[in-house]
Amino acid sequence: MGWKVLVTDGIEKEGAAIINQKDQVIDRKGITPEELLTIIPEADALIVRGRTKVTEVVLKSGKNLKVVGRMGVGVDNIDLHAAKALNIAVVNTPTSTTIAVAELTMAFILSLARDISLADQGMKNAKWLKKELEGSELSGKTLGVIGYGNIGESVSKRAQAFDMSILAYDPVRKPDEIRFSGAEPVDLDTLIKNSDIITLHIPLIPSTKHILNAEAFSNMKDGVKIICAARGGVIDEVALLDALNSGKVSGAALDVFEVEPPTDYSVAAHPHVVATPHIGAQTKEAQVRAAIDISHEIINALDGKSLRWKVA
Ligand code: NAD
Repeated sequence: MGWKVLVTDGIEKEGAAIINQKDQVIDRKGITPEELLTIIPEADALIVRGRTKVTEVVLKSGKNLKVVGRMGVGVDNIDLHAAKALNIAVVNTPTSTTIAVAELTMAFILSLARDISLADQGMKNAKWLKKELEGSELSGKTLGVIGYGNIGESVSKRAQAFDMSILAYDPVRKPDEIRFSGAEPVDLDTLIKNSDIITLHIPLIPSTKHILNAEAFSNMKDGVKIICAARGGVIDEVALLDALNSGKVSGAALDVFEVEPPTDYSVAAHPHVVATPHIGAQTKEAQVRAAIDISHEIINALDGKSLRWKVA
């Protein structure tokens, strides 16, 4: 009969097929928190994306639960502390969405440099904004990458192909590794003062909350551009809005927000902001990769084999 693997935020058929060879996928996509509590006692494993909140109560109710799998990177919707205490493993798929997010970041950078969103809105309103929209080139500009992990380094590689210089701030990565990838390791202050465009690729943890705040914006170059496809909360949105209104920040592109969906759309609605609804990981290729990666990892966990991506 095999193990029962509860899936609450959907899974691509390529992943389900791997699990169903021996075990059993129970697909309850879109399940409510109340329904989850009634069905979790049956599950040996739980697979989620970012929607399902895997709280201490959920974990405690999972009497048979041995592992929780997150399709994607961020595990902020899972109570890792409780999982550890209950001896429930937590695994994710840290590299499945790297390319998707790096490519969205490049799309953001190019869109801001050439005012593509404003130009397109003009055309849709029968306005020919040719004179108004003088863009800038990426070649010769400096890109500051805050957080030089999988995505940060992938963005760096792509930006180097556009002849950009890269400054990287990451207190964990070895400076030599950063140099080897073609970027210059610097402290945060140096990055903030010297970058034409700043992109964030850090997790949301206490040390990164509002890492870009009013003080940081005031130290940046005039007309700097800000990109964030990491997590809402790493930028102080009120301070960003002030910096956009004053012109200090000439443009921002955001895929993530402090509240999702936002209750206040003033940042997203700003004319110099390009905004998307947290679609960074949403390419077909990334989702299939995540489904396959998590399915193998869940089976390994249930079979007591060693794990590649254990986060708790
Ligand atoms: P990663 O773990 O490979 O890289 C994160 C890097 O941040 C690490 O190298 C780490 O050392 C560094 N870091 C930690 N604290 C830091 C600090 N205070 N200052 C600077 N650097 C710090 O993760 P990743 O796969 O590159 O993902 C990066 C971010 O992108 C995560 O927040 C993730 O949740 C987010 N993400 C967003 C989407 C989306 O849909 N928009 C999709 C996937 C990932």
